[in-house]
Amino acid sequence: MYHDWTAMNTTEMSFLWQRCLEAAKLKLEPSTFRSWLAPSEFESLDEGMFIVRFPNEFTAKFAKAHFGPMLEEFLHEFSGRSDLVLSCRSIRTPDRHKSERPSVSTQPYVYLRPSYTFDLFVQGPSNELAYAGALSVARELGTSKYNPLFIYGGVGLGKTHLMQAIAHYVREAQPNRTFRYLSSEEFLRQYINAVLNKRMSAFHNMYKDIDFLLMDDVQFLAGKEGVQEELFHRFNELYQYGKQIVLTSDRPPHEIEPLEERLVSRFQSGLVADIQPPQYETRLAILELKVREEGLVFPKDVLDYIASSIKNNVRQLEGIVHLMAATSRIQNNPIDMELTKKVISDYLGTQFKRLTPLSIISHVSEYFSISPSQLKGKLRKREVLIPRQISMYLIRELTDSSLAEIGSFFDGRDHSTVLNSIERINQLCKEEPSLKRKLNEIKNRLTN
Ligand code: ADP
Ligand code: MG
Repeated sequence: MYHDWTAMNTTEMSFLWQRCLEAAKLKLEPSTFRSWLAPSEFESLDEGMFIVRFPNEFTAKFAKAHFGPMLEEFLHEFSGRSDLVLSCRSIRTPDRHKSERPSVSTQPYVYLRPSYTFDLFVQGPSNELAYAGALSVARELGTSKYNPLFIYGGVGLGKTHLMQAIAHYVREAQPNRTFRYLSSEEFLRQYINAVLNKRMSAFHNMYKDIDFLLMDDVQFLAGKEGVQEELFHRFNELYQYGKQIVLTSDRPPHEIEPLEERLVSRFQSGLVADIQPPQYETRLAILELKVREEGLVFPKDVLDYIASSIKNNVRQLEGIVHLMAATSRIQNNPIDMELTKKVISDYLGTQFKRLTPLSIISHVSEYFSISPSQLKGKLRKREVLIPRQISMYLIRELTDSSLAEIGSFFDGRDHSTVLNSIERINQLCKEEPSLKRKLNEIKNRLTN
């Protein structure tokens, strides 16, 4: 399992930041790392803002501009929380973010990424329905026939972007409409706090007087019954008064398991729209947009090479652009094919290097909401057996462990059991497209 970041304390968050720094160290020249990132320190987490302090304003700005996207990617990866936003600040400057908050307002403070707007979202066949659904919800807030709107798709394909685009749009067009935007992990955390502190009615009030609710990554609630029940009631209350609800997930409602049947059917009752990995043309258009946003120009062959190499994940596409821009500036090299090939192979290389049998087991157990010990254990129920066989399959494919070594990870099974498992997964993938999709999704997360 992922570490339980929902109960993260300051020490653990400092530790999380240290892990991000270690990962960044692998990607940067030692002198670059020493000058810009080594002197940084985690300060606090404030409504999804992961605040890190730097010795001065200049270093903070430089670090954010050049390494921000990469560090954020690590933050998301290591914490499993895709809502975290990195804020780089100087130790001496006053807390600007705080003073910008509305002092008296019923509008709950919500941080939205400025660039996650409809304008900066590239449409293509892979995201057509989700885009149209989101835009329609934003334009016809409260009267849209797509209620709830449920957007699902793999990591880094633009779910959060589209969801925040709705909020940006409404903020602009109807500033007095109130909403909550949060990840389902945040919702869980609020719920637990409310239970522990006996503040249920305060918690309920937070969801009473809003015009719309945006909840990101609801797959995280799989297997968490108490909070599912709570969401069911909040959902009904809002829905009953015609309030818009938008949800995202990495898989369709019926594949979030275990999830209460009544929630599955609520989630399915509006528009369920998927986002697929973009085709080449869309990837190229996204790439051109990201390069423009950086204020750069990449040669055509470079754009083509990147769009052809990075296929499954837009966040990676963006990561590469930022990394290339930073590398080129720091080393004072032009952006050409040589630099591109080096950056891409380093980027993908470090991603694979991090994979170990243990990290694979922990991702698979997270994905299927079962414990690593069940995964390794003897139980032969299908819900456990298939994930176990998938783990073996992925360890074989993504690490250089031998069959015997893999067997020893799974409570001392022998190599022939491992081989059978791998063959069985190969076979099942041919028969069941949904299993194949799950496998690819896990692989995509692992290599993210
Ligand atoms: P998800 O929530 O699906 O994991 P995000 O919404 O966080 O993914 O998107 C990852 C990154 O890719 C973001 O920076 C987002 O702006 C960018 N992105 C994804 N799809 C598109 C798109 N179609 N057009 C422009 N940017 C995109
Ligand atoms: Mg997301």
